[in-house]
Amino acid sequence: MNAQILRARNLNAGRAGGTPGAKPASMTDPLAPFFLGAYGENNDFFEKTLLELVRDHVFWRRNFHPEDEPPIGTHDQYTRAYLDGLARTRHELHQLTAALKRSVPSFHPRYLGHMVSDLLLPGLIAQLVTTLYNPNNIVEDVAPITVQLELEVGRQLARMLGFAVDGAHEPCALGHLTSGGTVANDEALWLARSARLYPLALRDACTATGIWVPEVQVRPSSTDLELLGLGVDEVLALGRRVAAFCAHDPRGGELFAALGAARVEETGLAAFAERHPALRRMAVVVPATAHYSWHKGMSLLGLGGSNLVEVPVKQARLDGAALEPVMEALRREGRPVLAVVGVYGTTEFGTLDSLHELLAMRRRFPGFWLHVDAAWGGYLPTLFRDRKGQLLPREAVREGFRHFPSERVYRATAALAEADSVTVDPHKLGFVPFGAGALVVRNRRVLDLVQQEAPYVFTSAPEEDERRYRKLGRYILEGSKPGAAAAACYVNHRVLPLDHDHFGRLLARSVQSCERLVDRFPTLQQELAPWVRLSIPFEPDCNLVCLAFNPVGNRSLKAANAFGRRLFETVDVRPDQPVQLKEFFGSSTTVPLDHLGYDELERVGRELQLDLARPDDTDLFLLRHTLMNPWLQTSPGPGEPSYVEAYCHFLARQIRTLLEKT
Ligand SMILES: *Cc1c(COP(=O)(O)O)cnc(C)c1O
Repeated sequence: MNAQILRARNLNAGRAGGTPGAKPASMTDPLAPFFLGAYGENNDFFEKTLLELVRDHVFWRRNFHPEDEPPIGTHDQYTRAYLDGLARTRHELHQLTAALKRSVPSFHPRYLGHMVSDLLLPGLIAQLVTTLYNPNNIVEDVAPITVQLELEVGRQLARMLGFAVDGAHEPCALGHLTSGGTVANDEALWLARSARLYPLALRDACTATGIWVPEVQVRPSSTDLELLGLGVDEVLALGRRVAAFCAHDPRGGELFAALGAARVEETGLAAFAERHPALRRMAVVVPATAHYSWHKGMSLLGLGGSNLVEVPVKQARLDGAALEPVMEALRREGRPVLAVVGVYGTTEFGTLDSLHELLAMRRRFPGFWLHVDAAWGGYLPTLFRDRKGQLLPREAVREGFRHFPSERVYRATAALAEADSVTVDPHKLGFVPFGAGALVVRNRRVLDLVQQEAPYVFTSAPEEDERRYRKLGRYILEGSKPGAAAAACYVNHRVLPLDHDHFGRLLARSVQSCERLVDRFPTLQQELAPWVRLSIPFEPDCNLVCLAFNPVGNRSLKAANAFGRRLFETVDVRPDQPVQLKEFFGSSTTVPLDHLGYDELERVGRELQLDLARPDDTDLFLLRHTLMNPWLQTSPGPGEPSYVEAYCHFLARQIRTLLEKT
């Protein structure tokens, strides 16, 4: 500890000028300019740029109507009441920032906990500065610039996922920002419900009016199940033909009104299901590892939490073999499947579902909406795409990694392009401040189905389409929302485009840090063999790794979990403790034993020397590590091991201390 303090002093002396220990130019880290840094190393640039842009903003105000008398009089600024106002403001701000010092130091490579790290500096500055302009991305009128930036961010994300974004061709993707992944998932469900039930409403409206649109799949003889078998693109093409019919046929107005009234958005789900009884138990199929936002979404939309059908996973991953029997069973029970959700990066374990196999399932069970919840893994595809947006061969992606990407991960990534919608969280692996999720839909026409104050006619000229989606608030779940979040994403994606050679570098660093920890694991296992048994329950797919522990000689899962919890306390955030007292931060989770799959259960049990076939607890406690910080492979001092390595030493020390105490 003494040596550490000494070194800290020396460093402080050396850092008086703001430049930390000089390194030879050849060692310059390509990511070095893009973060404020664990020590605030880029403070000079940050401060200078922020000040410049704040002044620039004030300049803009002053030059708006400089001939006007300023409403805050100069004399006012010398009164006691005025100074008192300033003093109160300063006082409260200092109270706030003093309290914030107990925040989680997520910017530091000693933080390996939740899905957060230091932020990309370009986006951070963009967000702070754009806030001064306070654009509201609900509609272009109040955010002429940032609404366009948001739609461009949507295109950047869509290209990264492999979606087509050429407005002159169908389908054309559209992405927009949300407050987070939860709302993006809700919106996906809302859109899926709207699209899947549209043909049923149309048949109801045609039946009621006796007006049948020629040459569409909705006929007097169509059954619910037939209509539910239509694919999303078919439904949307149908919607456009119907709109054209309504605009041109003399009885179009009547049908248009009847259709509006018959849709689930108007009738409500209860009345809609009365007419279509099969929908009463309409299912949404998710892997058992799905984020809890799915349950919220089901209750919110009136679909019912009990209709969220969880498919068992193996190694916390969903595959086609597990999905198929569930789909079969639902078909036998006559329960329509509204949507199937695949997860690209589970929140707890970082595992990726076999999306390619879920896609294949859509050929056997046509019609379902395929949503991918990539709130966590959403930016990983940057590693797989070149500057032109082409998918790189797996061999090219593998360069610089020891294990990544597995064949399964590669194929799952390629399959993203065929999903109907994808949730991506820029505030996770996009390294922007919180309040930025995104939903990307493969076919933007689906937004027309939920449009508020729907016009009588859908215009179809591509330029006109581009323009009408700028009235964002009419097409999406949320209303007023920060243009600053769009600016942050936009500037980041301009500085580091979403391809292998730019943004991909940042994520490569993260995946490599994870590989370092995994590679170090067997040595850690050996070192700790006299004290504790260790296991990695899931082979990591990307940059998140979980560890399980069991003290030597213990056979009880409950006791192993209790030990894990005590170990977690050494890396936990405590509201009553200064964060400086902690050497490292981690996070924790539990895995239900049945998420492991039989073979894995056997392996993990063997590694931990626990009989998991006859456990005395239902879940296994895990330390969970998110290896996002770009400087995890650097070391805290010359000649010292890297942070990843230091964390392993730290863990070993904590484990021995804990066990020697008891
Ligand atoms: C984080 C996460 C969510 C929820 O996103 P928020 O941004 O927290 O609302 C949903 N699904 C997955 C897989 C996630 O990782």
